[in-house]
Amino acid sequence: MKYRAAWRAGMAASALLYLSGVISLFNFFRRRIMKRNISVVLMYHRVSDDGELPDITVSTKKFESHISYLAKNFNVVTVDKIVELFRKGERPARDTAAVTFDDGFKDNYTFAYPVLKKYNIPASVFVAADYVGRDFGLGEDEIREMNRGGVTFGAHTISHPVLSGLSREDAFREINGSKRALEDILGKEVSYFAYPYGKRGRDFNDDSIDIVRECGFRAAFATDNGFITERSILFGLNRIGMRDLPRFVLEARLSGIFESRIFCALRRLAGI
Ligand SMILES: [Zn+2]
Repeated sequence: MKYRAAWRAGMAASALLYLSGVISLFNFFRRRIMKRNISVVLMYHRVSDDGELPDITVSTKKFESHISYLAKNFNVVTVDKIVELFRKGERPARDTAAVTFDDGFKDNYTFAYPVLKKYNIPASVFVAADYVGRDFGLGEDEIREMNRGGVTFGAHTISHPVLSGLSREDAFREINGSKRALEDILGKEVSYFAYPYGKRGRDFNDDSIDIVRECGFRAAFATDNGFITERSILFGLNRIGMRDLPRFVLEARLSGIFESRIFCALRRLAGI
């Protein structure tokens, strides 16, 4: 309930800021005057209109509205590129975004992939190996077809466990096994990993990070909410979780206003 109330408050704040023109003004100020461009990785799960698993599903219409917004306003790049920018410590020359999907649902092929192609937007899918070939999961042929079409695939363990709850051997088997399984399907190296559930310190820990490094991944993604900044870590990169958000909420969320000093000071004043 608490979460829902916070969610509603966030929606209301976004609507107010958007409709009053504050978001446009803030974006103008941030980009043109402060020259502070954003680097962000978005995280989706399902794209579908079937009404199942609403907390992790974005409708096809909303998904297209998000992607068309990104295509117009962001330099949308591959995970490779956004990781490279971070590693070099470079500030992006424009607002930069990467689009990711977790778990490997079949609707990523059926509904998301056509939209991504239409707008020529690169994306990455982190697949739990056990889901491949299941009713709800991507098939091997679909994975290969999407990969030929420019979609990067990353690993997401075999059975989607909470890694911090496993022994070292089991965590290694889950992480390394998912890398190998996906490499077998794709016939190429798999370089990126996303932690199941993904909250640092809760769902994965320093041991999980060590194993991910040891297995030869180049970077890994968390589900901790936030932009990529100089304070981010390569094996626990933040993302912004996407829900069935109206476009104005996306626009407000990606403006960076909620991370700005002004906003934080206002929150402190208001005591929230
Ligand atoms: Zn997942």
